[in-house]
Amino acid sequence: MLLLIPGPVQTDPRVRAAMAEDIAPWDDEFRAEYAAMRPRIVAIAGGDAADHASLPLPGCGHMVIEAAIRTFVPAGKTLLVVRNGGYSDRLVRMATEAGRLVVTLDGPDNAPMPAARLAEALAQNPDVGHVALVVSETGSGIVNDPNVLGPVIAAAGKRMICDAVSGFGALPFAMRDHPECDVVVFTSNKCLEGMPGFGFAVARIDSLVAAKGNAGSWVLDLADVYDHALKNGFGSFRFTPAVQALRAFGVAMDLYDAEGGQPARYARYRRNADVLYAGLKGLGFTPYVTPEHQGPIIVNVHQPADPAWDFGRFQVALKKRGVVVSNFWTTAAPTMRIGCIGAINEADIRFALAQMEAVLAEMGIGQRAAA
Ligand SMILES: *Cc1c(COP(=O)(O)O)cnc(C)c1O
Repeated sequence: MLLLIPGPVQTDPRVRAAMAEDIAPWDDEFRAEYAAMRPRIVAIAGGDAADHASLPLPGCGHMVIEAAIRTFVPAGKTLLVVRNGGYSDRLVRMATEAGRLVVTLDGPDNAPMPAARLAEALAQNPDVGHVALVVSETGSGIVNDPNVLGPVIAAAGKRMICDAVSGFGALPFAMRDHPECDVVVFTSNKCLEGMPGFGFAVARIDSLVAAKGNAGSWVLDLADVYDHALKNGFGSFRFTPAVQALRAFGVAMDLYDAEGGQPARYARYRRNADVLYAGLKGLGFTPYVTPEHQGPIIVNVHQPADPAWDFGRFQVALKKRGVVVSNFWTTAAPTMRIGCIGAINEADIRFALAQMEAVLAEMGIGQRAAA
């Protein structure tokens, strides 16, 4: 089966094979294996060992995002959320339910937030301490580039929190170039092409130390994750981890390095996205995002206007032909999102396009442009 979803992604068989063993997480050999992974994770984030730490948490990405908000935004302090997509709505909800004050900077979900609008919003909201943004919006495929927005945040004397989950490892970003960035959050199972089961934060050590006591939660306290590592070693765990997923993640990082790291991964995904974008247009679909705003992680098209169109039927028929796409959407308008990430290449994208063409013909969908 070919997964064209924005996570959990298609994996290399060597990554999956690494799961096939029982492991005691506290075993000395495994502790060493895990401890060796942590500086590699900092390196992928473009961090420096002296200034940045990797903070793994078993579970999904949202758990680590909530942990990052709780850890770095003290209760009663104001977080500005750059809101231009379905995943940024989730940041608002997590911060609000954690009792943080939230203001939003709203924009359309088919374009990145302009730097000038963020500068204006920060000037109007002096109470804001942190800005949270979704880097690659998995709903639409746009990218809010922290290399563009970070300097605006720095100039205003504020701190940045990045939900980098869907693009981390592929989109260029280096923590060391962004002292305003307290934390980036990502998972094992998107552009790093590991198995689901782990989320990660890479954070500034000085900010972590200053954040002690903020979280209002033991389980979701990244400062406590760091403290525990200092006291018990960087190969230790607070609670039972998804240990096989972690071992598989080590193999996934080996493959990442062997491919050529971030530039190589970006190039492969960019090619996938370009071929997919052109191919979907060729089939008659209307892209949700214009070419200049189209990121390399997912491509999104409007659902066809044809009265015979039935998204559920299309998705199931495509799956019967070996291709899985998401059977839901998180954009303002009804769309279909297709992932360009994972252990896939241009040939896989071309195969998927051919299957889509066949299913559209079977279903008799002539009017494929947006309603
Ligand atoms: C995948 C994703 C997450 C995390 O999703 P989980 O299901 O919690 O792992 C968060 N933000 C973005 C932008 C994502 O793409």
